[in-house]
Amino acid sequence: MALLNLLADQRYNAIAQLARLAAEDATRSWQQVDPSDIRSSYMAVLPNVLASVTAGQLLAALNATDYVTAALDAQGDPGARGPAVDSAMLAGVASDGRPLETALLAPQVTTFRALAEGMEAPLALARGAYSLVRMVSTQVADAGRLADGLAVVADDRASGYYRKLTTPSCSRCAILAGRFYRYNAGFRRHPRCDCQHIPASEADDSLEFDTRAYFDSLSERDQDRIFTLAGAQAMRDGADPAQLVNARRGMTTASIGGQTILATTEGVTRRGWYAYVQRALDPTTRFQATPESRYRRAAKPRLMPEQIYSLAREHGWDRAEQVRQLKRNGYLLDGRSAGPHALTRIAADVLVR
Ligand SMILES: [Zn+2]
Repeated sequence: MALLNLLADQRYNAIAQLARLAAEDATRSWQQVDPSDIRSSYMAVLPNVLASVTAGQLLAALNATDYVTAALDAQGDPGARGPAVDSAMLAGVASDGRPLETALLAPQVTTFRALAEGMEAPLALARGAYSLVRMVSTQVADAGRLADGLAVVADDRASGYYRKLTTPSCSRCAILAGRFYRYNAGFRRHPRCDCQHIPASEADDSLEFDTRAYFDSLSERDQDRIFTLAGAQAMRDGADPAQLVNARRGMTTASIGGQTILATTEGVTRRGWYAYVQRALDPTTRFQATPESRYRRAAKPRLMPEQIYSLAREHGWDRAEQVRQLKRNGYLLDGRSAGPHALTRIAADVLVR
């Protein structure tokens, strides 16, 4: 499946580049944090960080429908297509449903904790920067992944997907990638996970990742490091990889922070999104003392996509009902979108300044 692999690689590279751009942009904002007044100086640049992440999320989610459509076309029967993903619904909200503002306080918390442990300010800030990069790149990549998952559900030519991983990979992902997933199975992941969907019209062993071959390709030292000493030894003794490592450890679908959140009140309305971005483009605008209450939008709670899949599995909804629920929650449009998303240009302006 050369074409399928090519499409998946393109999609992977596009999302990885957006995650990197957003992380670089956010890091530039972080460099303006003043060690003598971390809290208010971070609050001052937080709108820029929010804009970077939101723009990255929007652009990462943008081409999901095209990617999934092309991947399924490559497997035969072109023409049948589902409704398009509304990428704006995945922007401005953390993938676990938390407000992005709240998730982005993590770097500040990390810095304060490091200072409390007696670390020097520059080192503590560097630790905060690392936390920021991790959060930003995870959120951008997750928006792309959630969008791809939505596009898989929306196109009923897809019976499911394979998990494509980019080596070097952790043992959990290597094990999870060795099988076929139904279209609404959800996607287990961990922070900074770079695994992606390969949409599949039907189960096809040749698309499965060969966990054993990956293990065998590693040096003994890497085998021990990635699969743990006991796990690697058992693998060398011929054990079935799926039996060895608890592949679910730290891997979640509906949450990424260890907490499952059912719904989000983050209305990623066009107006709300513009507000983020315009503040970023106009540096004279500053966050007030309570950014959350000020920017909270009065949107009605909506379920995160993974939560809808989980309800669908629990209640045995048919595919049409799942698509209906996804539309009701705003993730899928009624038809195919006409032309590029209205927010594309402004998002690109934020990231490529
Ligand atoms: Zn992994």
